[in-house]
Parts: sequence; C-alpha cells; structure tokens
Amino acid sequence: METLRAYYSPSKLFLWGGALFVLLASFLFFSQEHIPILEQEGELAPLVVLDAGHGGKDLGATFPPEQEDRARLFEKDLNLAVVYAVKERLERRGVGVVLTRLCDEDIQESARRLNIAKERCVEKFGRLCDLLVSVHHNGSFDVTHDGLMVVYGKEDDLLFSYALHKALWEGEGPRPLIARAETASPHYRYGNEGFLTGEYGIVTGFSPAVLTEAYYITNEKQALEHLSSADSTSLVFCTGRKEARATRGAFSMGKIAWEADLIVQGITTFLEESF
Ligand SMILES: [Zn+2]
Repeated sequence: METLRAYYSPSKLFLWGGALFVLLASFLFFSQEHIPILEQEGELAPLVVLDAGHGGKDLGATFPPEQEDRARLFEKDLNLAVVYAVKERLERRGVGVVLTRLCDEDIQESARRLNIAKERCVEKFGRLCDLLVSVHHNGSFDVTHDGLMVVYGKEDDLLFSYALHKALWEGEGPRPLIARAETASPHYRYGNEGFLTGEYGIVTGFSPAVLTEAYYITNEKQALEHLSSADSTSLVFCTGRKEARATRGAFSMGKIAWEADLIVQGITTFLEESF
C-alpha cells in the first residue's frame, strides 16, 4: 500500500504528465512538414509582387508573330494566366502577394508598375514587399525558335534569377512538347538562353526583381499546345466586373500549372536560402 501511495503522489503525477506532454509536442512538431520561412505569419511572412507583362493595347508577343489582327494568342493573356496561378500557389503557402496588373490595364511605363507595386504592398500589408517577379513569354519571327531566358536588373538580383532559372530549366513534369536539346528533332530545339540584363521589360527600382521568359509563345509547338490540348480553354479575367475580358484563343491549364509550379519552386528556394 505504501508503494502505491508513493507511486500516485501528486509530484509523480506531475512528472508523468510533463513527460507525456513533451512526447506529444515532439510528435506533433516532427510529424508536420517543416518549411521554416513559409510558415511565418504576420509581419514576418514574405511578401511578393507578381507583375504580368504588357496589357491593354500592348499585346506583347503574338502567335503567329507580328500579326495582331489574325493573332490566335496574345502574350499579355498568357502572362496574366500564369501570374494568377502563381498567386494562388504562393498564398496557399502563407506568402503575401500583390499584383501590378489585375485585368487588362495598359501600364506601359516601368515607373508606374513600380508605384503600383509599392502602393499595393503598403496598402495590403503595411510595408514594402520583399521581391518582384515579372512574368513574360518570349517572341521571335522564327516560329521554330524556342528557349528559356531569365532577365535581371542588376547584380543584386543575380541570386534570385539563378533560383528561377534553375527551377524552370531543370523542372520536370508535364512538358510534353518542350523537347530537350539532346532529344530534339532538327526542326525543334528548346535552348537554354541563360540570363540577360538590362531594361527589357524589367521593373526597375525594385530589388530583387527578376523577369521570366519560360518559353517562346511565338513557337509553333508551344502555341499549338495551348490552342489544341484536351484541357485548353478560353479564360475570362476579372469575371463579373466591367473590366471582364475573355482571352484571345485558348490556353492549356496543365501547361499554365506546370509553369506556375516551377516559378513557385524558384521563389520558395530563394526565400528559404536568403531570409
Ligand atoms: Zn513580354
């Protein structure tokens, strides 16, 4: 009896309770996927500006190239579709996002994009955002030409541009028509066009800021994949508002999701390495 009483004494119960609590807490901690930077909330959460290239009268590249009236695809539409897909994915991970272009606004000056970005970050989150990604797709007169290019403004943006380039270049997944150089037919090559610095549509005055050109929208294979895949659909931006506008042509949702996943991968890799 003496032993039993000692065993159930209040201090022993406290010790056992404490041990059980520590065990349970460790289990909960280690059983969850641990993403250090992205699980922060409030003021510490990373904030990203997504900038869809072109808009309004500025169509960007078209397919077929240089045929505005008969064009079947506009780059400005594809850029915005990818931006919305990236936004959704980042927000699911706890990253705060603002967009420079929401519908089909004509914002041709880089300075205006910069001001919109700054104002929206402060308005929505009470401070400036941490990084900016401009989404574009490249254009060429040659419909067989295709490749990946990443553009950065200055040297401070290099690390961020490496992360995005690496994700887009190495990314596997549904890239059925983007043949790698080693397997490409003589008529089609998807080349690594590396990095470019300079103006070229980059939003200057924001750092780090990087512009992605995941592929050429003027490339026949890429364009036809959008226009005639099983999951191709016309998109409407800003539904239910007076700015609502349907895209020219149709876009493959799988292809948009593929690119958005890789851009998110590049952004999160950079955030985890540099914050
Ligand atoms: Zn562009």
